Amino acid sequence: MNRTNQPLTPLESTQQALDFIQSDTLSSDQLALLNQLTVDGFRQHVNPGFLEYRKSVTSGGGYAAVEWRATSLNTLADTRGNEYIDCLGGYGIFSVGHCNPTVIDAVEHQLHKQPLHSQELLDPLRALLAQALAGLAPGELNYCFFGNSGTESVEAALKLAKAYQAPQGKFSFIAANGAFHGKSLGSLSATAKPVFREPFQPLVPGFHHVDFGDIRAMRAKVAECEARGEGIAAVILEPIQGEGGVILPPEDYLPAVRALCDEIGALLILDEVQTGMGRTGKMFACEHYGVEPDILCLAKALGGGVMPISATIASKRIFSVLFDNPFLHTTTFGGNPMACAAALATINVLLRDDLAAQAQHKGDYLLKGLKECAKRYPQIITEARGMGFLQALEFCDNETGYAFASEMFRRGILVAGTLNNARTVRIEPPLTLTLAQCDQVLEQVEKVLEQLSPSSGKGATSQASPSLIH
Ligand SMILES: *Cc1c(COP(=O)(O)O)cnc(C)c1O
Repeated sequence: MNRTNQPLTPLESTQQALDFIQSDTLSSDQLALLNQLTVDGFRQHVNPGFLEYRKSVTSGGGYAAVEWRATSLNTLADTRGNEYIDCLGGYGIFSVGHCNPTVIDAVEHQLHKQPLHSQELLDPLRALLAQALAGLAPGELNYCFFGNSGTESVEAALKLAKAYQAPQGKFSFIAANGAFHGKSLGSLSATAKPVFREPFQPLVPGFHHVDFGDIRAMRAKVAECEARGEGIAAVILEPIQGEGGVILPPEDYLPAVRALCDEIGALLILDEVQTGMGRTGKMFACEHYGVEPDILCLAKALGGGVMPISATIASKRIFSVLFDNPFLHTTTFGGNPMACAAALATINVLLRDDLAAQAQHKGDYLLKGLKECAKRYPQIITEARGMGFLQALEFCDNETGYAFASEMFRRGILVAGTLNNARTVRIEPPLTLTLAQCDQVLEQVEKVLEQLSPSSGKGATSQASPSLIH
């Protein structure tokens, strides 16, 4: 490999990249080179900002942690050979674990048979996946549109609601404060976080935000809109707010929202991009509340941590607005054969291993332990909460949360938390995380809290060495 200061030509650099991709193991020199190329590439060609905010860079003890491979369903390793228990789970994408063999096998077979579709003949896996999802989704949700990302699933839901409600003269949406639905202009209009929205104003008109969990606030907003002659096309909510910090609504909230939507003829869109596919202890979080949406959005875990894919699922009554002209909303790669193969295998694994029940059972176990830790360190953690394997620790302040996340990282456990967003640290492991691994996590949480505790005298800055595995 090139070691002079002469920059590689694109032909040489892509060949170098292919060599990395094609090697199963690398010498320590090659690993060091890969590390350096990665950091330089981020600094000069991706976005240097990422080097500032990530604990994988700032807590690496003088080096940036560069990921190299998944080492088991629930662990991954960096180029230095440090192994991490993945309690971040890619913010919910690795529900069936990393490199789940059933998913990999399905995708490998499809890869060699036909990775992408002709765009003209009927592609069989799209039909088979839509049928599987219709069988899985609650009630009347029988028709599926496929995209490639969470934000695309929300875009499709918003456009579907608009197309359905346009003849009724209803054009507005109600979303929740704290909501996250994606960052493309349509879904961003439903997303609430000010920093993501501010530079992009004005967004799509007709979006109103009300406090999550407060049905009276929603009723008041509906009345206010209707008094101005503004009809509500749809209400869009996450059943449990993920990005917003794992916020669970009151038990009776979603049923009350459902009733309100029925009363005013608005559609209910549930964004289960993060909560779906078993994450919260049921296949879909709406099942905890006995609520059936009109449109359901899925993504993240749907592709089994192997392929990107999203689905927007609706009843025939609603979806039929696209029957006359199915080209009204399409995307070239959405529902491609490799993505569908991954999703079909993922659903198979989720059901075969009853991973939703596993998430419930092991999630309860982990959360009980976290709550006990929180109780012992009330000056550090103000709350531990969650459902299934969607959990969060709420810290007294952002700095302490980041110190916690960084220290956990140094100890080989990956949890959420970036420099600018660590007051609430999310824990979203693969649903395959074992009870023994839950114990390992709890043991380290306890040690880190002890270390961060003001009475320990060590404070937030002490360093532990990363756990080396070979
Ligand atoms: C992550 C997420 C999205 C956006 O998904 P992308 O694939 O990042 O576009 C939308 N809604 C919810 C609830 C999410 O958690």
